[in-house]
This record gives sequence, structure tokens and C-alpha cells, in this order.
Amino acid sequence: MQKVVVIGGGIGGLSTAIYLARAGYEVSLYEKNDHVGGRASLLEEDGYRFDMWPSRYLMPDVFERFYEQVEEDITQHLQLTKLDPSYRIFFTPQNRIVDIAADLERDLETFEKIEKGVSKPFKEYLCRASYQYTIAMKKFVYRNYDSVLDFFSWDTFIDGIRLNVFQKMASYVKRFFKSAEMQKIVSYPLLFLGTSPYDALAIYALMSHVDFAQGVWYPKGGLYEIIRSLQSIAEKNGVKIYVNSPVTRIVTEDGRTTGIELADGKTAEADIVVSNADMHFTETVLLEKHEQTYPESYRKKKVLAPSAYILYLGVAGKLPMLTHHNLIFTEDWKKNFAEIFKTKEMPTDPSLYICKPSESDDTVAPAGHENMFVLVPCPPGVELSQWQEDAYTEKILAMISQVCHIPDLQDRIRYQKLFHIKHFQERYNAYKGTALGLAHTFMQTSAFRPNNYSKKVKGLYYTWAYTNPWIGTQMALISWELTAQRVLAGKNH
Ligand SMILES: Cc1cc2nc3c(=O)[nH]c(=O)nc-3n(C[C@H](O)[C@H](O)[C@H](O)COP(=O)(O)OP(=O)(O)OC[C@H]3O[C@@H](n4cnc5c(N)ncnc54)[C@H](O)[C@@H]3O)c2cc1C
Repeated sequence: MQKVVVIGGGIGGLSTAIYLARAGYEVSLYEKNDHVGGRASLLEEDGYRFDMWPSRYLMPDVFERFYEQVEEDITQHLQLTKLDPSYRIFFTPQNRIVDIAADLERDLETFEKIEKGVSKPFKEYLCRASYQYTIAMKKFVYRNYDSVLDFFSWDTFIDGIRLNVFQKMASYVKRFFKSAEMQKIVSYPLLFLGTSPYDALAIYALMSHVDFAQGVWYPKGGLYEIIRSLQSIAEKNGVKIYVNSPVTRIVTEDGRTTGIELADGKTAEADIVVSNADMHFTETVLLEKHEQTYPESYRKKKVLAPSAYILYLGVAGKLPMLTHHNLIFTEDWKKNFAEIFKTKEMPTDPSLYICKPSESDDTVAPAGHENMFVLVPCPPGVELSQWQEDAYTEKILAMISQVCHIPDLQDRIRYQKLFHIKHFQERYNAYKGTALGLAHTFMQTSAFRPNNYSKKVKGLYYTWAYTNPWIGTQMALISWELTAQRVLAGKNH
């Protein structure tokens, strides 16, 4: 039986471990933190239970496929509810509030009030987005690339033209919508992909199919239930999981990995090592210079996805003006995105996201209290002093108070914790504290993303949000499938 070591217990690490254990490998997984989950982590304090990052269960088809492949009944693991509304959007400075229902008739009624006559172009836009989704999933997402040449077939070219892959999202949406509000409504999912509508390709309009046609779901108990479920399936299949076990080195001999070394000096032997730890860390800290497929020079040319300035808040009393998922849209998007991606400064007048899971789940906060998670996308690499942190937090809370009409918000806060750029670095070994990895620019899409095996060290594979297909819990699950295919095919043995 061949031995596999997986470094990191994020969704990518856990799901790869499950697949390889089921294929007959002896699998051990080492996680640096005190619980598995990685970016999908849990924070439990003072009676509040926070899903630390992923909060939106999207693309249920991807999860269903995963559970089917590992021969598990998803309904035995996750009790899913479709949220209605999916999102509430607060437009500033107009104070317009818009609920997105993921129900075409109701959404069209709402959109007609924003832009008269928009029903026809919206239907056409959504129809194209659904087509983009189907083609992308069939042809681009569930596949491994050996070289960028694989991307440039005649078929891809024709699909690319049909899917408008060569156009930028910001100009693409203008073909359908005149008002800035409608353009923002259909472009906002790109923020969650760690990119800007001014840089992203129009293919990512497929996210509108995800949001408006498939809807936003919630597993009872929170998103961490996915992790509990993966952990139980992994253990059932014989994966040995070690937490509080940071890996400090990938051991190699004659250009082949022979295992790993841990912070306490112990070693574990392996025929195959799969790293789920961030790309920069794996390549530059766990490997020697001559063993790096993606050295420092590679990263200099890349665009990092944003980091995030996050506040976990426990609030006394109810907040009926907020629903489960809420977005505040600033008026000047161009400036907001430029501050995140170009000038790299903390956004002065940011768009932000507020998750209030206590809307749908009374187990996440004490009775009569609300659980709130506030996320402001911000550039990676920014250092903030204590004074700057306090001032920025104050500014964000004041903004929420004013826009969401909660004048006494600050007085009602019973629990508050801040997590941002430096914490992503410390907790996940994330390069410059990026929350998500690599942004989705044209040159960082599909075949242009880093590959899932080392070109320098035999037996070393990667399962990441950095590689194809893209960022997100679902994509980490797909990344698992692609990495496992590589291992089973002996691509880098
Ligand atoms: C703020 C935020 C909001 C998000 N919202 C959503 C959402 O709503 N919906 C959605 O689908 N996705 C969302 N995502 C994205 C999603 O969480 C991630 O894409 C996904 O969880 C990444 O999984 P992963 O397995 O690639 O990496 P990770 O989860 O980062 O896993 C890597 C693991 O490696 C471990 N590790 C690192 N170094 C070492 C070492 N030396 N030794 C051992 N272990 C190590 C880390 O501790 C970690 O557990 C969000 C992400 C963030 C940050």
C-alpha cells in the first residue's frame, strides 16, 4: 500500500485525502491549526458561533457530485435550506434597498423599478449566463491542463467567442443594462471571486446563473457542517488526521519526495505528498530553491486576490433591517476597486458584506441576540497599526449604523473580534495575507493558473484554490478531483 501525506486540512486537503484513501492509499493528513477546515473555520466564543469565512453555500450541483462520488448520501450530512431573499442590497448614497429573491418573476418586478424595460435584457443576460455556466463546467472547469496550448483548441476559441471570454465584465454588462444599479447587481459576485469587474473576463457572468438561477443555500448549523462531514467521511475511510502539526519541510532525495518533517522534529515517510498549504509557502518555505516550480519571480508578475478586514460581532437584541446576506454598495465602484487592486490602500468608502446567520439559524447566537460577520475586501500586504485598526473599525461600524439604520449598533455589541491581513498570514501562511489566493484575471484563468503537480519534485502534488478551476469551497472540491486524477494517473510519479 503506498503512503500519502497531505499537508493541510482545508476543503482541498480533506477531499483529496478522502479520494486517495478510497482508492487504496494509506493517507495521513497534517494540519497546523487546532482544527481542520482551513479557510472554512469556526470561531466559538461567549455563546456565539461564527463560520469564519465561507458563508454562502453556492453551486449545490458541485457538492452533490462530490457526495455521489464518495458514495455518501448528502441528505444524511447536510440539511439545506434555500434562502429567501438570497441577498439584501443597500445602495449608497440613495438609500435604496433591493432584495434579490432568486425567483425570476419576483426579481424582474424588483428590477423594473430600478430600470424600466429591463426584463427583456435581463432574461437574455441570464440565459447567456446559464449557457456560460453549462459550457464552463463541461469544458473548462472539470479538467486538468498540461500546458496553455491545451486551452487554445478550435473548440475553445469558438466557445470563447460565444461566451465573450475576451471582453471585460464591466463593459459586457453595459450591453444589457443602462443603470449603474443594475450593472452593480450583476457584477458583485466577482468580488467574491477575488477580482474586479474592470479586470475580470465576462465569462464570470456565469456567477449570475449561480446567484439568480441556482440561489443561495444554507446548511443547518452553518457552513462548518461541511467540514464536520468531510472529516467524518475521511476518518471512516481510514485517513489519519493530526491537528496542531505544522509541516516545516518537504523531504526530498534525488529529486523525489520521501516525506515531510514537522515542527517538533518528527518525520513522516511518504511515497506521495499532496500540499494544500498556500502556494507561496509550499514552494518557498517547504522546498529548497532548486526544487521550486513557482519561485519568487513567478509571484512578482501575478495579481493577488484581495485580503479581507473582518469583524465578528455578537449583538444584543434583534436587527430586522438585515437579512441573512447583505451587501452595502458604495457609489464610486471604480475608486473602490482601484484602491483594492491598483493603489493598494484601505478603501476609503468601501463596499462591504454583512452576514447575519442568526436570521435563519437560532443556534448561532444566544436567545435574543444576533450573530454578525462583516467583511470589507481590502488589498493584501497592507500593515495597520493598532491606532489604524481602531479607526477603521470605528468607520465601518459608523457606516453600517447609518446605512442600515441601526443608530445604537455600537452600544449593543456584546462580542467583537477583528481578523484581517496579518491574521491570514499568521494563521494560514497566506502570502501577503491574501484571503483567497490568485485573482481571476485572464492570465490567471484555467490553463494559466498554477498546475497541480510539481515540475521539479517527483511525487509532489498540490490541491489549492490557487490552481484550476478557481476560488471557493466548491472549487476546492473540484480541485480535489483534478489532483486525485493526477495522482491515480501517476502523472508525477
Ligand atoms: C473571507 C472569505 C470568505 C469566503 N466566502 C466564501 C463563500 O461564501 N462561499 C464559498 O464557497 N467560498 C468562500 N470562500 C472561499 C473558500 O473559503 C476557500 O476558497 C476554500 O475554503 C479554500 O480551501 P483550500 O482547501 O484551497 O485552502 P485552505 O482552506 O486555506 O486550506 C489550507 C490548509 O493548509 C493549512 N496549512 C498551512 N500551512 C501549513 C503547514 N505548514 N502545515 C500544515 N498545515 C498547513 C492551513 O492551516 C489550512 O487549513 C471565502 C474565503 C474567505 C477567506
